[in-house]
Amino acid sequence: MPMHFIANAPVRSTSGRTIPMIDPSDGQPFDEIQRGTAEDIDTAVHAARQCYHAVWQSMAPAERGRLLHRLSVKILEHADELTALEQRDCGKPTRQARADAMALARYFEFYAGACDKFHGETIPYPNGFSVLTWREPHGVTGHVIPWNYPMQIFGRSVGGALAAGNVCVVKPAEDACLSLIRVAQLAAEAGFPPGALNIVTGYGHEVGDALARHPGIDHISFTGSPAIGTLIQQVAAERHCPVTLELGGKSPQIIFADADLDAAIPVVINAIVQNAGQTCSAGSRVLIDSLIYEPLLERLGKAFENLRVGPAAMDLDVGPLIRQTQQQRVWDFLSDAQVAGIPMVAQGVVVDEAPETGFYQAPTLLRDVPVQHRLAQEEVFGPVLSAMPFQDEDHAIELANATRFGLVAGIWTRDGGRQFRMARRVHSGQVFINNYGAAGGVELPFGGVKSSGYGREKGFEALYGFTTLKTVAVHHG
Ligand code: NAD
Repeated sequence: MPMHFIANAPVRSTSGRTIPMIDPSDGQPFDEIQRGTAEDIDTAVHAARQCYHAVWQSMAPAERGRLLHRLSVKILEHADELTALEQRDCGKPTRQARADAMALARYFEFYAGACDKFHGETIPYPNGFSVLTWREPHGVTGHVIPWNYPMQIFGRSVGGALAAGNVCVVKPAEDACLSLIRVAQLAAEAGFPPGALNIVTGYGHEVGDALARHPGIDHISFTGSPAIGTLIQQVAAERHCPVTLELGGKSPQIIFADADLDAAIPVVINAIVQNAGQTCSAGSRVLIDSLIYEPLLERLGKAFENLRVGPAAMDLDVGPLIRQTQQQRVWDFLSDAQVAGIPMVAQGVVVDEAPETGFYQAPTLLRDVPVQHRLAQEEVFGPVLSAMPFQDEDHAIELANATRFGLVAGIWTRDGGRQFRMARRVHSGQVFINNYGAAGGVELPFGGVKSSGYGREKGFEALYGFTTLKTVAVHHG
């Protein structure tokens, strides 16, 4: 049975209780994880703190980099095993789970190289002084991870934190955490000192909350829903603990009449069906130039009808949703659409092999979605794409910016001036022009504006968030 992983050892929870793991492909329990407690978090934080003082803090950055690189190699060596764990846990089609395992290895490779290349500055100052800045780690960082991309989000968050010199306590999601427990074991095999990387599983309101409240946590990286992000921020504010919040999105794909539609269509579809639409950066709204609204909807509709949904192991276009409550959430949105008279253009097909007990949802394309309708405002977190027409650039921007979110925007046009005008005016942390996601490169800083959160992870930029700046002024005459 999977245990917590604290100080390089499997640890049973003090609760003596477990949480069943459900396979989204058939809705059946297949394993159990520890139902952690505040006491377990305390044990992990102490192990981390001890490691920080005894070993990690004094380790040469290059040596830390070598450890991260060894973990990256271990992840590659165990890519099949990690893929299988993520697939079963999350219901991801094989190719998607494998891509996540490869991304995880790449994060550690990237951050391995960053350990000894991140530094402060010297500042020009009047004669007699030398002023410099040091980039110092926070110490013990807490990481709360969602279930939709456990490996990817662990890689970008924990990879950056370790590279910056922190030690980590990680609370994965209760729905999907097996891959991360395995990665922590691999880190131990790679030579990580006990306490550098600790995993405590359990429910958010129990261990997640305990982690956020623990006075020994010096920084919290939270990825998840805006509602829980608010709670984390409130709890952290009580002791002025810095937080990074990576929250939700309602990201627009804006398609102008001059766009290369052959290139855009498969990307627009992938952006809403990847991981069954359970992606923070899902392109869940498609804003279409009124000049091409009807013909493009027709082409998108045909492509939707060709999408196949089934068990993760069948490796089709779309796997199941994570759990029954998520399926119900998507059904509620679709029934609201029906009540509001929002027309459905097309749906994909759930294959006959999909067990009735699995959490399947056919990808669905809706049109003429009113901008104030909840389908255009809230995260569905399922494979549902809402289309709406726009008249010109101003109108496209008005629609694009009309939600509380600001995570990603896709802009499709061949007009170079328009590309930059739109990119400047759209409210989002990322803008992708004639692509969406740029193949997810780990080098690209990622984060949101407005209710999509703040702070950046991924890339070199993440290291600023995982460190604090100390200014040192020497008067030497
Ligand atoms: P969630 O907020 O329900 O849970 C996220 C994590 O928080 C889980 O580990 C959960 O156990 C924990 N948690 C729950 N209650 C808590 C509490 N009171 N205190 C501390 N921790 C608590 O989100 P989810 O349903 O797992 O994930 C989906 C959400 O995550 C979506 O909104 C999605 O957009 C967002 N997300 C954002 C990004 C990004 O990079 N911006 C990436 C992935 C997912």
